[in-house]
Amino acid sequence: MKKPRTLAEPFRIKMVEPLRITTIEQRINILQTAGYNPFLIRSDDVYIDLLTDSGTSAMSDHQWSAMMLGDESYAGAHSWEHLETVVKGLSGMPYVLPTHQGRAAERILYGILGGPDKVFISNTHFDTTRANIEFTGATAFDCMSEVSLDPNTELPFKGNIDIEQVKVLIDKYGKGNIGAVILTVTNNSSGGQPVSMQNAKELRKLCDEHELLLVIDGCRIAENSYFIKHRESGYETKSYKEIAQEMLALCDAFVMSAKKDALVNMGGLLVLRDKEMAQKCTNQLIISEGFATYGGLSGRDMEAIAVGLEEVFDPDYLHYRIKSTEYLGRHLYEKGIPIVRPFGGHAVYIDAKALYPQIPVHEFPGQALVCDLYTQGGIRCVEIGSVMFGKKDENGNLIPAKNELVRLAIPRRVYTQSHIDYVIDVFDDILEERPQARGLRLTYEPPFLRHFTARFARIK
Ligand SMILES: *Cc1c(COP(=O)(O)O)cnc(C)c1O
Repeated sequence: MKKPRTLAEPFRIKMVEPLRITTIEQRINILQTAGYNPFLIRSDDVYIDLLTDSGTSAMSDHQWSAMMLGDESYAGAHSWEHLETVVKGLSGMPYVLPTHQGRAAERILYGILGGPDKVFISNTHFDTTRANIEFTGATAFDCMSEVSLDPNTELPFKGNIDIEQVKVLIDKYGKGNIGAVILTVTNNSSGGQPVSMQNAKELRKLCDEHELLLVIDGCRIAENSYFIKHRESGYETKSYKEIAQEMLALCDAFVMSAKKDALVNMGGLLVLRDKEMAQKCTNQLIISEGFATYGGLSGRDMEAIAVGLEEVFDPDYLHYRIKSTEYLGRHLYEKGIPIVRPFGGHAVYIDAKALYPQIPVHEFPGQALVCDLYTQGGIRCVEIGSVMFGKKDENGNLIPAKNELVRLAIPRRVYTQSHIDYVIDVFDDILEERPQARGLRLTYEPPFLRHFTARFARIK
């Protein structure tokens, strides 16, 4: 058999963006000034930015040329019609509301569905989802099985919602108190793991039995479709887009941050099946985002989203996308770095608790690793653990998150394989310095989404 070829990028580069290379001494100072929070570092001081895959995609020549066709009319722009047609075709739903990003769609929808005493149930609430729900006074419950939460089990669909836990919550709170059931595909905060079609169908059935609203948070619906095609029987011959359409046909509402699988830098969508709900949401949209035919977007943004939503289902693109993420994960795993497996679609997640066993959870091992990756290699990434999801008991003691993960998110079409090889090399230094790794303590934290602006100090 022939040796498999290098996975080369299915695009070539027409425009370059120079990167600044810093020294380790500079980075130590930069990190200290930023309060050991990578969100507070200037991007010019970052070499490889794996903070997020959100809004960081490189757009194609087709998207850039579509932007020149942007119709900037206030009402009824043809760019809006273009976007609406593409989204209706994908979702099969009649009401499409454009928003400036995903969380605006969430704020509008959960602002209407939420309120004190309401309960929301999800596989895992993404941080902005949880914050928008809790801001209304409602409570958000995550339903993941123990095996899915275990970073070491090799299962094909570790993003699935645990149906049994959902049933328990429905019985406990009663259907009248449940604002919505939210299925996040892929499951961003739980390792970027996919959700199977079977799981989505079972959830739909349960929602039907109890007359519950099913929302799909489909930021990465194309990446999820890739996994279904290659891992779930019955989907081998379906196209990626057909799989996405089949999944979206199951829900009552679809929220999407276009900054992910729509391959653009800004934008979001709120898509609804019900007319009355669409009217309520439209009223909110007009108050805070903009008129119903542009939301918070300019005409050229809507053109780019429309083209991106078609491009993302290209088989060559999706293959490259998933396989290049796997490339990073596999090489780190082979080095002995504890990685969440199987590898996610948009990111590789490191189990920081396992890598830094000497750092207790209240000293944030994930945040410590994030800081060390910046110091050693100018790599920026994010903690997904007790900094992001930790809570406090009545005495102010930390109730830790279930896992202490560090996410290396891969921007779409931005870095080449040699950039990724560089990242892999930096982990040699991490392993070498591992015995000296130290934790952090919080010196400032805001009341919501604290990971964005919190500041830390190193524990001596
Ligand atoms: C990014 C994201 C959001 C929020 O979208 P923004 O565009 O960042 O506001 C919501 N849900 C999931 C799963 C996401 O990944």
